[in-house]
Amino acid sequence: MNSAPLDDVRAGIPTTWVNPRRSQDVPGVVTLDDVRDADARLRRFAPFLAEAFDGPWHLGPEGIEAGIIDSPIVEVPRMRAALGLRGSLWLKRDDELPISGSIKARGGIYEVLTVAERLALDAGWAGGDPSAGDHRDFAGPDLREHLSRYTIAVGSTGNLGLSIGIMARALGFRAVIHMSADARQWKKELLRSLGAEVIEYEGDYGIAVETGRAQAAADPHTHFVDDESSRELFLGYAVAGLRLVDQLETAGLTPTAEHPLHVHLPCGVGGGPGGIVAGLHLALRDRGVDTAHLHCWYAEPVQAPCMLLALATGRGDAIAVQDLGLHGRTVADGLAVGRASQLAWSATKDLVAGAYTVRDDELFRLLRLLDETEGIRLEPSALAGAAGPTALRDLENPSGACHLAWATGGSMVPDSEMATYLAS
Ligand SMILES: *Cc1c(COP(=O)(O)O)cnc(C)c1O
Repeated sequence: MNSAPLDDVRAGIPTTWVNPRRSQDVPGVVTLDDVRDADARLRRFAPFLAEAFDGPWHLGPEGIEAGIIDSPIVEVPRMRAALGLRGSLWLKRDDELPISGSIKARGGIYEVLTVAERLALDAGWAGGDPSAGDHRDFAGPDLREHLSRYTIAVGSTGNLGLSIGIMARALGFRAVIHMSADARQWKKELLRSLGAEVIEYEGDYGIAVETGRAQAAADPHTHFVDDESSRELFLGYAVAGLRLVDQLETAGLTPTAEHPLHVHLPCGVGGGPGGIVAGLHLALRDRGVDTAHLHCWYAEPVQAPCMLLALATGRGDAIAVQDLGLHGRTVADGLAVGRASQLAWSATKDLVAGAYTVRDDELFRLLRLLDETEGIRLEPSALAGAAGPTALRDLENPSGACHLAWATGGSMVPDSEMATYLAS
């Protein structure tokens, strides 16, 4: 990295880093077959999800009719005009994902389902054999009884804990969520109301994760979801990239030389956005699309640009934002991460177009603007990608470009909390 951007990063000034070595080859960390396999597993569970979340568990904004956890892409022309952008602006509405209302509904739920399926098969359940039943069996007493002997644990500042806790409880697992004491109160209350155990830690969030990991390692009946290194989480997110290809085609947004596509991804540890980057590249290439016209960007808070640092220095998880004197605190709680995931970094470092940073006050400005222009309310983290089109304005930004900002969460934020955001 040349020193000017690094100085800006250190000073907390919004910065854009452009990847000098891009390749079209997806590293073998995950393959298209892996992602298709994950998609198929989610589809197998769809009848169960439709049934399980059609009653007292109905938590998501829209319910979950067909049992498929996915969201639409929508054009936001009034927001585009307000930002003074050329080209077109779209949002991926993961804020409306069923069950837990954030991008974490993809990876977190997928990992819990994977564990449940494996435990059931190990116990002699004849799943997959159509004559002997289907995944709706998971709603019945026998499998719930069996799964209740196991614990799913996770260390989380919020949305991941919510997704894992909700899904684990819906399957009958015991759920233990290790959280920092300053995590949002409404998330802790919701989890406790579902019968999850929430353990709070004063001070450093890293201690919550360490403690959770160590406790799980000592107990063979506990599965710990590891946000920094989980392949299952990564694959669950990658399914979003696979499915996006059809949505792009329907909307006429498949990237071409005349109409390049920029995808803007709010980034914490990188598992969510990284999985999407990998899945989207794999799926587009499989359709014969030249991914040179696809530009994926990681969007991070100025105080927590862990992926930008990992990429720009080439050091992956060997560097943390604290090494540059940044404190890592931000209103974007889903992105308040000091160190990137080695898995996400290594799988996408040659694929991404780059990374940029956004100030907290800009997140709030965009949050208000999106509410005023389009009536869409997101949580602060989810606005990071909406800063991208403006951040890239000085770079090549031909009028034919389409920008797709990933709206990563918001629909489960209580009204009182949202009112605070809108007034910030
Ligand atoms: C977790 C989260 C992200 C980022 O996902 P990572 O896998 O941590 O990179 C983005 N937005 C929201 C709302 C999140 O909760």
